[in-house]
Amino acid sequence: MAKDNTCSEKPSTDETADSVLNPQSDTVCSHAIDRRQFLSMAMMSSALLLSAKRGIALTEPALQAAIRPRSYAALASLPPGAVRPEGWLRTYMEKQVAQLGSQLPDVSWPFTEPYWKGEEQAESWWPWEQKAYWIDGATRLAIVMQDEALTHRVQESINYTLAHAAPDGYLGPSFFENPKGDFHRWPQNIFFRSLMASAEARDDAGYHIVDAVRKHYLTDTADYGVPTRNITNVEEMLWCYEQTGNPRLLTMAENAWREYMKKVAADPGHGDLSWMRVYADTPINAHGVTYAETCKLPAILYNHTGNDEYLKFALAAQRRIFDFHMLIDGIPSTSEWFRTRTALDSHETCDISDHTWSWGYLMMATGDGVWGDRIERACFNAGPGAIKNDWKALQYFSCPNQFLATLNSDHNVMEHGGRLMAYQPNPGQKTACCGGNVHRLLPNYVVRMWMRSPDGGLVATLYGPSKLNTVAGPNHVPVEIVQSTNYPFDEQINFWFNAAHPVTFPLSLRIPAWCSEPHIAVNGASIAAPAPKNGFITLRRRFVPGDTVTLVLPMSLAVSHWPQGGIGIEHGPLVYSLPIRENWTPIVEPRFTTPEFPSWNATPASPWNYGILLTSENLERQIDIQRLPMTEDPWTNPPISLSVPAKRIEDWDLMANPDNPEQKFTPPLPDLNVSKVSDAVETITLAPYGSTKLRVTIFPNLNT
Ligand SMILES: [Zn+2]
Repeated sequence: MAKDNTCSEKPSTDETADSVLNPQSDTVCSHAIDRRQFLSMAMMSSALLLSAKRGIALTEPALQAAIRPRSYAALASLPPGAVRPEGWLRTYMEKQVAQLGSQLPDVSWPFTEPYWKGEEQAESWWPWEQKAYWIDGATRLAIVMQDEALTHRVQESINYTLAHAAPDGYLGPSFFENPKGDFHRWPQNIFFRSLMASAEARDDAGYHIVDAVRKHYLTDTADYGVPTRNITNVEEMLWCYEQTGNPRLLTMAENAWREYMKKVAADPGHGDLSWMRVYADTPINAHGVTYAETCKLPAILYNHTGNDEYLKFALAAQRRIFDFHMLIDGIPSTSEWFRTRTALDSHETCDISDHTWSWGYLMMATGDGVWGDRIERACFNAGPGAIKNDWKALQYFSCPNQFLATLNSDHNVMEHGGRLMAYQPNPGQKTACCGGNVHRLLPNYVVRMWMRSPDGGLVATLYGPSKLNTVAGPNHVPVEIVQSTNYPFDEQINFWFNAAHPVTFPLSLRIPAWCSEPHIAVNGASIAAPAPKNGFITLRRRFVPGDTVTLVLPMSLAVSHWPQGGIGIEHGPLVYSLPIRENWTPIVEPRFTTPEFPSWNATPASPWNYGILLTSENLERQIDIQRLPMTEDPWTNPPISLSVPAKRIEDWDLMANPDNPEQKFTPPLPDLNVSKVSDAVETITLAPYGSTKLRVTIFPNLNT
């Protein structure tokens, strides 16, 4: 700790407020936590819940208009709390709250230590990063679920850090206030996202947070252009610029990006983001998280400057991910660097949270619904596919093909033979990023399900059962829109509108690229669906309380082809896998697990060595779709499955370590030229990828 909170020139609370409103006022002194502010912070948890219910922005709209600089974004996000999950999504997130979402700080180091909320331990920056992931995720989880106990728990870190700002305004651990080595501002980037969420969700006390962040950046002496991930703070600088209108923050962000591009970007260790390699559309030679966190920044810079060069660069940087590294479950091969696309290529769980977060900014910058398609694909497949269904363990590396997941079965180059594929509460142990970062995934999905267009319209960007409370129309009338659906397990989505009186506004609905014939009805009467523009159709009408808009997105079957003759099966936004029954064996390792939250070895207890018999045409005739009534927990009991013809490949077996035959690995796809394929055709039943913990997703294609 050791932050001196005395200040020789303490400003009044009003002065602090003024400095937020006046872009030219850069009050430097003053950690400025006076008694009134401290009490205000102490009351934040209840205020947070109240404002989450209201779901409107940080300050009154008129006040926002006075201070907010012009945005060039096609879509604007809504404050966390405006959208709340319902139905299966709520049930799934309730499990997250009940298990690791709230209990991780009782289970595993470093989450058990007081990083960001107590006496400092200065051994390295790592635990500050790792715990900040959980603080951000749990803050957002608490807001969207309106969970008071979890709110109170995460608020301790936020209140402590704000109350212990250095006299010059610096927020965070004092041992890396004076910049020396790499990454010395990277942990702030992660932690400050929890401040962003908290500030936006509280329209009464949020400006104290904004002001604290403003002071931090405007007085900081760190060089944000170098080294490595310092540059990621551009995200928070620009958020603070958006909230305050202070032009120095925008200048600071643009200067940092310019310096990064000049001195650092070409280095693979720092992003592989040179102008030449990005525009040449080369495969990426960089770390997945570093790339995802860095290459979103020009999209955010575009949102605040309107400079097309930023957006062009951001889109070109994204294109490399999809052209060279994307796996079937919606997340690129990143173990931990970008790699190839074989059936054994995996991704780090941090990459699921970080890529989807970055794609949200691309959606705001472009207004293109394709980013919604991409976020859904990752959140409905890769995400739940890496998390144990009870939300008590997850993988560090997860893979479309994983026939076992044990403490020595990691088949990736990195940590080969190590523990990173086993389901654990904190799967990296001392490298504890994924155990924290996984908690950001679903809250951020919920936060970004609805956005606002510049014409005051409401835009349904991501689908799922939920409830939106916000304002609409020129007079900012409070409205509620209930999204009633079992999507993505069903094709129909109903939007039920409620307000005190009729409101006229544009309502935009995303039409996924996989859906060629959407149907729309208003109050039960079909209407001719206009052609989607940029992935959305827009209904401009006067909405009367009780109005229902029904959107049906017919899902069709598709196959995709992968290296070494692999084939995968999709239906709408869901990827399908052969579930392998697991033998689960718990292992308790002190400091990182508990008897209630052990690590797990999962070994296969049902046959998996199948190739499938499919041709690309007439898939509907070859694949049988079975639908059951919707279940409360569709990742545990999926209401939809696919039956496909298959044959056993009799000599396709787990790989063994020649020096230790007990140590087994998931094998690559077999060479069908020499494989022994059974004559008998069987029917195998595939389940949604996200419901499987051991699985075959990329199959040998026997119809070649
Ligand atoms: Zn990670």
